Amino acid sequence: MAQSTLTKAIRTSESMEPALSFSTQEQAAQRKLEALRTKNGKRPNIVWLLIDDMGYGDPGAFGGGAAIGAATPNMDRLAREGLKLTSTYSQATCTPTRSAILTGRLPVRTGLTRPILAGDKITKNPWSDEVSLPKLLGDAGYKTVLSGKWHVGEAEGMRPHDVGFDEFYGYYGAQKEITQHVYKARYPDLVLNPERLEMLRKTGSSVALIHGFKGGKTTEVQTVDTPEKMAEGDRLLKEFSVAKIKELARGREPFFLEHAFMKVHADNFASKAFEGKSASKYPYKDAVVEVDAYIGEIVKALEDAGVLENTFIFITSDNGPQLDSWPDGGYTPFRGAKGSAWEGGVRVPGIAYWKDTITPGRESDELFDLMDLFNTSLNLAGIPGKIPTDRYIDGIDQTSFLIEDGGRSRREKIYIWNEHNLMSMRMYEYKIHIKVVQHHAQWLNIDMTTVSDVGLAPWLFNLYIDPKEQYPVGHRMNAWLASMAAELKAHAATFKKYPPKDIGLAQ
Ligand code: CA
Repeated sequence: MAQSTLTKAIRTSESMEPALSFSTQEQAAQRKLEALRTKNGKRPNIVWLLIDDMGYGDPGAFGGGAAIGAATPNMDRLAREGLKLTSTYSQATCTPTRSAILTGRLPVRTGLTRPILAGDKITKNPWSDEVSLPKLLGDAGYKTVLSGKWHVGEAEGMRPHDVGFDEFYGYYGAQKEITQHVYKARYPDLVLNPERLEMLRKTGSSVALIHGFKGGKTTEVQTVDTPEKMAEGDRLLKEFSVAKIKELARGREPFFLEHAFMKVHADNFASKAFEGKSASKYPYKDAVVEVDAYIGEIVKALEDAGVLENTFIFITSDNGPQLDSWPDGGYTPFRGAKGSAWEGGVRVPGIAYWKDTITPGRESDELFDLMDLFNTSLNLAGIPGKIPTDRYIDGIDQTSFLIEDGGRSRREKIYIWNEHNLMSMRMYEYKIHIKVVQHHAQWLNIDMTTVSDVGLAPWLFNLYIDPKEQYPVGHRMNAWLASMAAELKAHAATFKKYPPKDIGLAQ
């Protein structure tokens, strides 16, 4: 495979993403994990707090917060007392990120390249030949729970409790997939037309709060038939997670809890307790305040249950803010937004918190891909050897980066895809685009956009001097254009041996 002169990453296996090697740091991290396990007599719990569509610039710790009308004291405190990651990358939309973090694989490999929407005809269950993180953790003795949004398929065989989670309490789709059934002011041509509403009910996403168990019953706890019920969705999820933490903490086994908020994805309706609680009073901002408060309560529940010191917590968003739905959308200081391969679409807040294990006050701008949570979680659970070898794994084990003081990221590159298009790559502070998303209206990043090829030279930006990707340094000011192009070719070549999967979302 082509290797550029800029790269220092090492490919140790044909099916694994090349990684930077810091052997002293990696050995120290393993010793730290072993010491913790001896001390606690148990492997660590893993808790992910995944917010839907929150912008990079929304939390105070990332430049937003009170300054933009929605204070986030809990996220800010956890960032301060943990590791703040300023170059964390998601996929550009919900389903791709949610499936990628559970498989360690790019959406183009699993076929889950975009959100599954009403009327989509899935030709193959993408999970039928994927190996999920909860499945691997469950096999190794972990209790696994998804509380909140799924959005990776809702037919039997594709539900969270079919693909590895012991228990699921939440909603199959995004808030908008539910609220479009009931929100008259925004969807009058649908909600006020009984015939169309019936058609949607037949083909669209479930509008129920679901409780399902692996190999057991799946029940509908509540039907969301009013905006007011949707408004209270996250409160119900939080109450479930807090109670579940109490129960799981008493058990002999460690646990993996993915708490996936419904907010702050449009349409946001303020819950009773949080209406007007943000300085801005806008429903989106009230939702940010609500989510932040619940993060505080969930972390407090871990503390009260006596397991905070043995729990790795990661807080992030599944993609950039949805500016298409502004003002019911978040803030990013970067170019573009949800759906886009520009930084605004894929650069998200990242906070790693682990009391007494991650030293407070750390901050790093080195690269972290949310898919790295797959490999990292398996290492934390003591089963790095369970990473599948019969398929390509894009994640990298970042345990040592996260838990060692001064830890360096083992990731050198982030590949950015837009559905089936390889768009761009970040490598160190550089970002190269071989295709670009063109906006035809300033605020629209999903609707009314086109993807186009670049001209003679790829568009190359230096994010340290131009974080908004406005002025390409190109071949004139950068020696690495050809090297980075070679890295993209090497990435593309991994698909020859491991072809992408098509599940019917290709258009
Ligand atoms: Ca999302």
